Amino acid sequence: MRVSNMFFQTLREVPAEAEIASHQLMLRAGLMRKLASGIYSFLPLGYRVFRKVEQIVREEMDRAGAQELIMSALLPAEAYQASGRWEVFGSEMFRLKDRGGRDFCLGPTHEEIFTETVKSATRSYRSLPLTLYQIQTKYRDERRPRFGVMRSREFVMKDAYSFDRDEAGLDISYKKMYDAYCRIFDRLGLDYIIVDADTGAMGGSGSQEFMVKSAIGESRIAYCDACGYAANDEKAECIPEKCCDGKNCCEELELEKVATPNARTIEELMEFFGCSAKEFAKTLIYKADDKVVAAMVRGDRELNETKLQNLLGCIELEMADAETVEKVTGAAVGFAGPIGLDIDVVVDLEVEGMKNFVVGANETGFHYKNVNINRDFKAKYVKDIRTIKEGDACPKCGAGVKVEFGIEVGHIFKLGTKYSEALNCVYLDETGKENPMIMGCYGIGVNRSMAAVIEQNNDENGIIWPISVAPYHAIVIPVNTTDSVQMELAEKIYAQLEELGIEVMLDDRDERPGVKFKDADLTGIPIRITVGKKAGDGIVEYKLRCEKDFAAIPYEEAIAKAKEEVAKGLKK
Ligand code: ATP
Ligand code: MG
Repeated sequence: MRVSNMFFQTLREVPAEAEIASHQLMLRAGLMRKLASGIYSFLPLGYRVFRKVEQIVREEMDRAGAQELIMSALLPAEAYQASGRWEVFGSEMFRLKDRGGRDFCLGPTHEEIFTETVKSATRSYRSLPLTLYQIQTKYRDERRPRFGVMRSREFVMKDAYSFDRDEAGLDISYKKMYDAYCRIFDRLGLDYIIVDADTGAMGGSGSQEFMVKSAIGESRIAYCDACGYAANDEKAECIPEKCCDGKNCCEELELEKVATPNARTIEELMEFFGCSAKEFAKTLIYKADDKVVAAMVRGDRELNETKLQNLLGCIELEMADAETVEKVTGAAVGFAGPIGLDIDVVVDLEVEGMKNFVVGANETGFHYKNVNINRDFKAKYVKDIRTIKEGDACPKCGAGVKVEFGIEVGHIFKLGTKYSEALNCVYLDETGKENPMIMGCYGIGVNRSMAAVIEQNNDENGIIWPISVAPYHAIVIPVNTTDSVQMELAEKIYAQLEELGIEVMLDDRDERPGVKFKDADLTGIPIRITVGKKAGDGIVEYKLRCEKDFAAIPYEEAIAKAKEEVAKGLKK
């Protein structure tokens, strides 16, 4: 491709809302443009990358024996109503009505529709196992679209669904997808980790997420170097720290109400009482659908909203506003506590083991000290609802865990019979008996994976694409386009590279060399061949984007090196 003909524009400035490297670079390198919050168009250079990511996903799905099909994004409500997810998706689902007033949605994910499709076409055990997939546009009205295509409202997902006769069959189908995902993310050049995930509202017997480690990731991962345990923080089980170092020697002291006029935060209370955060229990007031509940964790802990949401089985969970807090506690924010509260109280497992702790008194300016669960208040549930943190005991081996952030690029899930039972997707076994099919579902975010590649491969000058997904493999830059010797050699190299099947750009623009080098670096083209003053001797500069130095070598050698580099990068 000649750059002079390309629909392509790099930007020197990016909007302030682009907070992370991949978002900034995708805009600066002219890969995409924003249309509205969480909605983007891919431009030619970006779309080439997108299609390569998609193609790698497709090849590995096919290799694993999955069959591709494509479904509509505009979906009738009925199947989602039957599974219960018409409600569960809440405001994340884009809903619309047709001219006849019938309900539709823009599909956020397609479990129901695949189940319906298989149900109508498959009756016998002989047709199983079966894995189907599509690479298709999904719509989710995310609460916080951000980071460009990392969390957008329209995105492309590869979603696959497996159908088996029994759990043993599901295990095999699941493993095939697991292996395919490893090959996909390897080919994308991503550094990832596979973690146990929560099966949450979806039900099911097991689930794992593929996480790209990154400081900007929105998922927290706990992992243990000692035993190899890895889980996301929604799943990672927290082992309660024992009161009194496990000696359990605390006698229950007498409950006491203390005036704490200027202390409402844990820090202020620590100073007031002269003790550590471990001696407090925070009482947080939440709105769970239309119910108000209280949740308690130790003063230095963080509540995990997904754990709480799963426990309560609610669709929407959010912290109550000040008005609600004041209404249910009868006190200003900062003085909530469990004693005398007439809403359900959920207590973290660790709080159950605490003795003589401090809580709010549900009266502005007061706290209770020497509080003891069961004696002073009752909990509706006692469960692990806190978030694991660095140094906490590994739930598997007890060593200290590490905590890092990750970008969830893929998710594999043993669904079991949740959808097949709800939608009556059954098969007849050898004896003619009806059984529900055992399902699995498997998702990869195509746009998010593309952004994750950039997030892990960039420097101050721009993107550094791996060959496997680079928009073009190589760029030929004549330093002076008015110099016929340089132009002739550049054209010759360009033609020969194309002949070899190498995707190549020729920067034939009448621009200063500095501009061309900057654009080549920004757009991250892996191989750069610069044709300059030594063109008359057939000498060019060969440079890889991922390396600092260049080599001045005969142009034939540069072509041979490029060929080798591309072959290495495309190896499957
Ligand atoms: P998240 O926790 O990040 O919201 P999710 O659990 O909702 O993800 P899944 O429903 O498992 O995601 O979807 C499968 C894959 O689709 C995810 O692993 C991710 O790569 C991608 N994905 C999900 N939501 C978005 C989004 N809003 N924008 C881009 N990609 C997304
Ligand atoms: Mg989500």
